[in-house]
Amino acid sequence: MTRKRLTRLVTALWVLNLVFALALAAAWLVTSVEPVRALFVSPTATATPTSTFAPTPTSSLTPTVLPSQTPSPTETLTPTLTPTVTDTPIPFSEGPIVIGYSVENRPLEVYRFGTGPHGRLIVAGMHGGSEYNTILLADQLIEFVTQHPQIVPADVTLYILRALNPDGEAKSHSYEGRANANGVDLNRNWDANWQKTWDRTRCWNFTYVTGGTGPGSEPETQALMNFILAHPIEAIINYHSAALGIFAGGLPPEEDTLRLAEAVAAVTTYPWPPVDIGCIYTGGFTDWADEHGIPALDVELTDHTHTDFEMNLLVLNVLLDWKPERKP
Ligand SMILES: [Zn+2]
Repeated sequence: MTRKRLTRLVTALWVLNLVFALALAAAWLVTSVEPVRALFVSPTATATPTSTFAPTPTSSLTPTVLPSQTPSPTETLTPTLTPTVTDTPIPFSEGPIVIGYSVENRPLEVYRFGTGPHGRLIVAGMHGGSEYNTILLADQLIEFVTQHPQIVPADVTLYILRALNPDGEAKSHSYEGRANANGVDLNRNWDANWQKTWDRTRCWNFTYVTGGTGPGSEPETQALMNFILAHPIEAIINYHSAALGIFAGGLPPEEDTLRLAEAVAAVTTYPWPPVDIGCIYTGGFTDWADEHGIPALDVELTDHTHTDFEMNLLVLNVLLDWKPERKP
């Protein structure tokens, strides 16, 4: 072998050696770097699924909404119902309370003030439009008590029926509006010495009116009768007009009714005993009430237009403060 050939062989060996060494190094690099890369890759790979599980919130929303929807009505209904039944006090005043309807289907309206056990009742407008000022007075009293609730004692409930005969009121504000739509005088329709007709020569006789087809035949009478029998009424004032004074109900009146009449007479200029025109009153409302143990008066205003408001405020105070001696 020549020296030149030997040199070539050695060089080739070195080159081969270098190539092998490089291949080794490359192999090591691949195997050793791969796990390192895998360390970084695998977290990102598992992070992606977790972030795709982000709908978990959405899927966890459905369960939280559903349970909160179903129990909430039952949970809120039960607690709110129980307190309203037990805790809500009866309001001081209430009205209009419709206690019935007239022949022509107009409502009969009562206003209530106070919550006490001792009932007091004012009835106006029994003779409709011909005594329209009694309805005006009732409205003034309703307005006054609304503004001054303190005048009603704690143990009293005051009821005001503003117009017992709204059909008569609607028909005319003159004597034509006295009877109800059946031509019945509602102060002659009660079960107390009831008569269909009577001697009119000494009585009110501007139009022909009757006592009805029987005691309590009229819907207005029935509504007021049922209302009184269903409530603890201890005294009644029934306003009329005009001029004849204070009439004590009863055939004859009970002692308490006479006492109430005297108490009202003491604060008014209305005649007591009343003016006697010789009329025989039949089927009267206050006679019926007195016979049912409830002191009751007809109080006539001085004319057909004025309400005598200041004087009837005094009457109202008498009615509210007055106490029966005989328990009804
Ligand atoms: Zn009258």
